[in-house]
Amino acid sequence: MPRGALLTLAGFALGLLALAACTAGPVGKGASLASVQAHVDAATKAADGDLKPFLALCKPTPANRPRSDDHALAALIAKPAPPAGRAFDNLYFLGDAWVSAWAIDTSDGIILLDALNNGREAARLIEGGLRQLGLDPARIKYIVVTHGHGAHYGGVNYLVGRYHPRVVMSEADWTMTASHLEFRSAYWDAPPRFVKGRDIAANDGDVLTLGDTKVTLYVTPGHTLGTISPVFDVTWRGRRHRVLEWGGMGFDFGADFARLDAYIASAERMQALAMQQGIDVLISNHSAYDEAPAKLERLQAAPQKRNPFVIGRSAVERALDVMSECAHAQRDRFALVR
Ligand SMILES: [Zn+2]
Repeated sequence: MPRGALLTLAGFALGLLALAACTAGPVGKGASLASVQAHVDAATKAADGDLKPFLALCKPTPANRPRSDDHALAALIAKPAPPAGRAFDNLYFLGDAWVSAWAIDTSDGIILLDALNNGREAARLIEGGLRQLGLDPARIKYIVVTHGHGAHYGGVNYLVGRYHPRVVMSEADWTMTASHLEFRSAYWDAPPRFVKGRDIAANDGDVLTLGDTKVTLYVTPGHTLGTISPVFDVTWRGRRHRVLEWGGMGFDFGADFARLDAYIASAERMQALAMQQGIDVLISNHSAYDEAPAKLERLQAAPQKRNPFVIGRSAVERALDVMSECAHAQRDRFALVR
């Protein structure tokens, strides 16, 4: 090869290195259209046939935080709500067509995970749903708010006024709801307020004990800075299962790399923890992901068959893979347009 050609080749290689250095900064990390596609492909593979709803996370999201759309929210709230239902001996679904609350029944009262959009929904779907299921709403002792967006705290003030449960939220989300709400809507009641500014501030790994039940509260930042993902045991037909509720799903915070990095780290951490603890049930606070109403219907139609909420350890692991891969894909999309 002539010397000139060698030099040209060396120059080309140097140019490639320089280009790589440009795209491999702390934010870019070598993002390319191919890397976006590789993450989407990995998520699609992990979702396989059974976890397709989670792939909604891989759709491109806007670079600026969207405002909450009251028109769309009103339409979602107006949709007929799915019936309340029993998913396990000690776990109940209560929700509208969009957002879910879950009731954990213990020997000493009820731990409620989230409180829906507002007091009217809490009255109709939480109080009404519990009564339909033969449970007394006056037994609600704790409300755990998975994160500080109105669809999850909106019904808290109504329930606190009626039954005086303690309210648990992470330190970061108490601060956020007291100072600068990330979203506002006329359809959400005010965030919970207490004389000292907050009620119970949960730290990562805190265990909430009520009667015979322990709920471990993991702080999994990402969707909000203080999203809580509760982990607890349930039983069904004499068998114990372990449940993870992923506390905040979407990337609706705009091109915030630190948030996406936190989300990825939380998903990876909970994946390791799920494997260690043998978690075989994954639920969500939005039924578009866990398909809770359809699973309840199947459970009612064929109660002798396998409980469809028990998706198995490897599916829980794959679902957390989908979340992390989709977050990586979104991170690379934002890096490309910077
Ligand atoms: Zn949210």
